[in-house]
Amino acid sequence: QIMADLLQKGILATVNQTIDPEIALQIAEEHGFLAEIQKEGEEVSIVEELPEEEKAKILEEEEEEGELVERPPVVTVMGHVDHGKTTLLDTIRKTDVAAREKGGITQHIGAYKIKLPNGKEITFLDTPGHEAFTTLRARGSKVADIAVLVVAADDGVKPQTVEAINHAKNAGVPIIVAINKIDKPGADPERVKRELSQYGLIPEEWGGDTIMVPVSAKTGQNVEELLENILLVAEILDLKANPNKPAVGTVIESKLDPKKGAVATILIENGTLHQGDYFVAGYTWGKVRAMFDERGNQLKEAGPGTPVEILGFNEVPQAGDKFIVKKTEREARQLAELRKRKREEELLAKKARLHFENLAGQKEINIIVKADVQGSLEAIIKSLEELSEKFEDVSINVIHSGIGGITESDVMLAAASNAIILGFNVRPDAAARKAAEEENVDIRIYSIIYDLVEDMEKALKGMLEPVE
Ligand code: GDP
Repeated sequence: QIMADLLQKGILATVNQTIDPEIALQIAEEHGFLAEIQKEGEEVSIVEELPEEEKAKILEEEEEEGELVERPPVVTVMGHVDHGKTTLLDTIRKTDVAAREKGGITQHIGAYKIKLPNGKEITFLDTPGHEAFTTLRARGSKVADIAVLVVAADDGVKPQTVEAINHAKNAGVPIIVAINKIDKPGADPERVKRELSQYGLIPEEWGGDTIMVPVSAKTGQNVEELLENILLVAEILDLKANPNKPAVGTVIESKLDPKKGAVATILIENGTLHQGDYFVAGYTWGKVRAMFDERGNQLKEAGPGTPVEILGFNEVPQAGDKFIVKKTEREARQLAELRKRKREEELLAKKARLHFENLAGQKEINIIVKADVQGSLEAIIKSLEELSEKFEDVSINVIHSGIGGITESDVMLAAASNAIILGFNVRPDAAARKAAEEENVDIRIYSIIYDLVEDMEKALKGMLEPVE
């Protein structure tokens, strides 16, 4: 039943698969269980750091159901390079009906909000590719509500398409497929559907639950229909926020501007941000000196689902940092300092990330497998499944597999899911090596399947001899 429920949410899960805590929570609640997530992120422990009366106030605020209003969905556009992400984002930007009243979208701040003719709004993260998405997620923030997967109809499913699918599934974000470039003579949307169905994305007309819209990002054909479908999914997700609370958001982009100092784009997720508010973001803090929208207009306040560029940080925050408004300067500063300490602890956690040497005693082992050819890949996955059966207390989950070299994106996925990476006759590229070092992700390279399996088995038994 649970697998069926997961399928309904667009997640193709096996019995021993790790799923996103948010999704687990939803499923638990649907089955009448009370569940709670203890996140590694900052918010839980921060609430604990607050005095009792503050805590009570926060709980009180969260109970004000009546104050909840609909908020715009936050959408990320993913897909293989050159399949049309940038073009689609540009075309969508032009459909904005608010442009006439407020001026067109003129600057890149990492996200923009558009208004449709029916008055509904959608916020797009406009850093195309899943780099932004994975970086944010590796840092514990789930920003996007919906992922639009762009697949070129003349090119079909490619390695980065598969990566994007895995990223979205791992984050529990529903996927809408935009089958792009249908204006091209060689376009074959049916082929794209067939290929996608191999990855668990079954189009609605075939009895599945994945919305697939054939579009042309270039001519704008069906783009409106795509937007309508985004709203449809958003409606099902029932996205609500309370505009009458102090603002909470996430840092989408940040930079040090030679004239303005530390500048960051915040996506407001809940509450309303006002000019003059004190805030913390990660281990930085400040006061909103000024804020601007994607049109360069200065704003006095910004509500849920709105991206804004803010001036007034003491230091440059990091993308993925949570942004929280505080009542006083003192509170903001103290919290920033507290977080700085927590960050040091995080670095320690990085040190403790899953490695071959510490596999023994683990109950769940997440693995990413990359290989040079399909045959080897299948053989390795099969061997890992057999190992998983052999070691009864251990479940080995292959969370992502593919043909080709190990990429930075594989490493970010490994970091976000605490996985190790096995490469068979393939190597990490320079960016992947750098990321692996930074994130302390273990990559093992093999050229003989037997060696790989033997090492795994030894590692599980805690008998692996140190290599280096
Ligand atoms: P990205 O790498 O995914 O951001 O892809 P781009 O948006 O940069 O598009 C790559 C190329 O495909 C560009 O030359 C675009 O003009 C072209 N392109 C994108 N969408 C379409 C489309 O719908 N039809 C046609 N014919 N070309 C497109």
